[in-house]
Amino acid sequence: MYDEIIDKNNKESALKLTKGTEQRNDVNLNYLSRVKKVKALSVNDYIEGILQGNRTVLARAITLVESNLHRHQTMAQEVIEKCLPHSGNSIRLGITGVPGVGKSSFIEVLGKMLTSQGHKVAVLAIDPSSERSGGSILGDKTRMELLSCDENAFIRPSPSAGSLGGVARKTREIIVLCEAAGYDVVLIETVGVGQSEVLAHSMVDFFLLLQLANAGDELQGIKRGIMEMADVIAINKSEGKEKERSEIAALNYRNALHLFPPAESGWIPKVLTCSAYTKEGIKEIWEMVLDYVRLTKKNGFFFKNRNTQNLRILTETISQTLTERFYNSEVIKEKLPIAKDDILDNRVSAYIIAQNLIEDYFKANLT
Ligand code: GDP
Repeated sequence: MYDEIIDKNNKESALKLTKGTEQRNDVNLNYLSRVKKVKALSVNDYIEGILQGNRTVLARAITLVESNLHRHQTMAQEVIEKCLPHSGNSIRLGITGVPGVGKSSFIEVLGKMLTSQGHKVAVLAIDPSSERSGGSILGDKTRMELLSCDENAFIRPSPSAGSLGGVARKTREIIVLCEAAGYDVVLIETVGVGQSEVLAHSMVDFFLLLQLANAGDELQGIKRGIMEMADVIAINKSEGKEKERSEIAALNYRNALHLFPPAESGWIPKVLTCSAYTKEGIKEIWEMVLDYVRLTKKNGFFFKNRNTQNLRILTETISQTLTERFYNSEVIKEKLPIAKDDILDNRVSAYIIAQNLIEDYFKANLT
């Protein structure tokens, strides 16, 4: 129609109509007007909102923590510091297992059970793949549909922070925010394929390993070290025909666990079977978590472990920062390549060179 009018105008009138730009129909104007209205929050707004359990403010505070902008980080640190006195009152539960073992299905069932009992459940993830591949093992499918609609549950995918250390730091800070917002169960989900569960283990009270009956340990990619960290091993998908095989697998795991040295917590790791489909075993696993918490609060390990975790953060942060500064300093950047050549030519011992480089660094940076 426009074309007709324009054509007509061009021929019959001095008044010229030009063709306008069509309104894009993929931009929702209502949305745009709302976005403009979102007001910037002050540190106090964040804290007030979080302490009131406001999920929108909590989500925005997490985005602040995840941001790498300097001014966001300064603000985030202030929010975290003010939330710290209100944190710590949760059970932090790590859940690991290879992709496909049923972690999200399990968390959905456990989470719904807990919210129905009056708990507030936060689900966080540590997913190293989100940075490396641009995609994420834990986040690229529709997960936990029921739990994500539950107003007493809060689900947040893994932060991507450049390095696993960065992800760990941000996850720890997010735990503080969630606890201050009243979440009394924090589930940290991680993929059972490597370093990420060591990190998850360093920030939780209890560690659950999900396994399958129909594959050997090698197939499941689970290393001995990860089994050793587990407080409970649960053989998932144990229903129907699988039940018998699961029981046999559970027996094998029980025998294997006997070979490990006793844990400092005083807890003897348990093995049981469960099914996220039939919900069998889920209640029992939670009861075990509660038994564990009771035992370790009584024998003092619970808080000792949290203190150890905090002190480890201190020493790790110091060594990471010093290492970064060392390698980024001008003097080391200049001398390290020469030092490496000297070592490769077998001219000087690596120990002596290391010592000399450290001295050079301090001389250059402390005067
Ligand atoms: P994740 O990758 O570890 O989070 O695993 P998912 O929870 O996405 O589950 C992987 C697949 O296993 C999905 O197709 C689920 O439906 C299925 N699954 C999960 N739990 C069970 C279970 O208890 N029994 C059976 N038979 N299948 C399950």
